[in-house]
Amino acid sequence: MQYLSTRGHLERKRFCEILLEGLAPDGGLYLPETYPQVEAATLDIWRGLSYAELAFEILSLYVDDIPADDLKTLCNKTYTQEVFGTLEIVPLRGLEPGLKIQALSNGPTLAFKDMAMQLLGNLFEYELARRGEELNILGATSGDTGSAAEYAMRGKQGVRVFMTSPKGRMSPFQQAQMFSLQDANIYNIAIEGVFDDCQDIVKAVSNDLDFKRKYKIGTVNSINWARLMAQVVYYFAGYLQATASSKEKISFAVPSGNFGNICAGHVARMMGLPIDNLVVATNENDVLDEFFRTGVYRVRTSSDTHETSSPSMDISKASNFERFVFDLLGRDGAKVKALFQDQLSAQGSFDLSADPVFKLAAERYGFLSGKSTHANRLATIQDVYKRFNNIIDTHTADGVKVARDYLRPDQTMLVLETALPIKFAATIEEALGRLPERPARFEGIEALPKRVLEMAPDVEQIKRLIANSVNNAE
Ligand SMILES: *Cc1c(COP(=O)(O)O)cnc(C)c1O
Repeated sequence: MQYLSTRGHLERKRFCEILLEGLAPDGGLYLPETYPQVEAATLDIWRGLSYAELAFEILSLYVDDIPADDLKTLCNKTYTQEVFGTLEIVPLRGLEPGLKIQALSNGPTLAFKDMAMQLLGNLFEYELARRGEELNILGATSGDTGSAAEYAMRGKQGVRVFMTSPKGRMSPFQQAQMFSLQDANIYNIAIEGVFDDCQDIVKAVSNDLDFKRKYKIGTVNSINWARLMAQVVYYFAGYLQATASSKEKISFAVPSGNFGNICAGHVARMMGLPIDNLVVATNENDVLDEFFRTGVYRVRTSSDTHETSSPSMDISKASNFERFVFDLLGRDGAKVKALFQDQLSAQGSFDLSADPVFKLAAERYGFLSGKSTHANRLATIQDVYKRFNNIIDTHTADGVKVARDYLRPDQTMLVLETALPIKFAATIEEALGRLPERPARFEGIEALPKRVLEMAPDVEQIKRLIANSVNNAE
């Protein structure tokens, strides 16, 4: 399998080449040259597989530069009951007829990002050892991504993580999750500032190409193809659990921010998985909902980006969206480049409403969309608790709300549960007047010793920290 860029760059690459890279050289995102096809007969054979075995079958279609035995070992090591809490890894539970929740949030940090990040940690360690190289991951987080990355990379050979976060802005639970890690290769850096200051530091360091090369700076953001590929697996696993025959079709509703999660659903559908609709659910930050309703994609300014009670979906633009637009435009890299490079930088938006391809988003690719408000989330959390004695988190509530707006009587729809309620306890208490349960392994984590450096938003200081950590280890 070869990979190409959404902006038309001619060079083709293989999986392990793009694994440790971010954007393609032309600023585009990597996608496979073609989507491998999975027949109904194959799906029926896969019904008997464990999650790790299923992951191996699907990853094998995309990865041809890691020997099969090694890839199998990596999958077996990643998707265990010990790490993800259940034998199914992504179990289903029912709400009203037709509606089910698929749990993606039982991993180490209780959010769906673990599903891909845990695999990425093992892939990075494997590939770095094979090359005899090291990698220093520099990131910025306001919550879920940073902790998922740290739990995936802790103790891994050849990898260090330098994770900046805005001081005092994450929930106490999220701070405790990250700062209680005592692993020598994990560096928590609390920046005096807001999330944008953290992102600016990451950009400034990455733009210093000499420093970047010398100190092998890398990232783990959601545009990484390996993360998307790992997420494709749970769409298959959800489908196989929800159906008895591979003639049935089901739909998925996905709480969405950067379009990474649902883009994996699009890839699964392109591979032939019988998916009827892919329902995009946003919160008040409705960049994606606006596009799917009107054909206008409009990047928000920071003053126009709202802080909501489903904070992991508070985005100003959807960084994986370009991948879908590439397919929607018939894989025309020049056209994608004109939209995402030229038009977005000139005017901050583009408009496909008059383009005949726009209607294909719904007709050919099955996309629907909707949004929710804080009041919708509270009402949905209350309703699911009262009727089903079940507590869902605020992001999953966005998904359930929008799923219910669309669910037809003849449909089966799975709502992806992207986090456990304990991560967003304050809103649960607001809705239900009680706190959600806390998994036993997180009892008392707020009281654990914290390992965190506090710094001004000073690029040179961060560079010194990285340089000293690398040089001291040599
Ligand atoms: C990251 C995240 C999302 C959004 O996923 P995208 O891939 O960015 O669309 C939704 N819910 C939770 C809890 C998350 O952490």
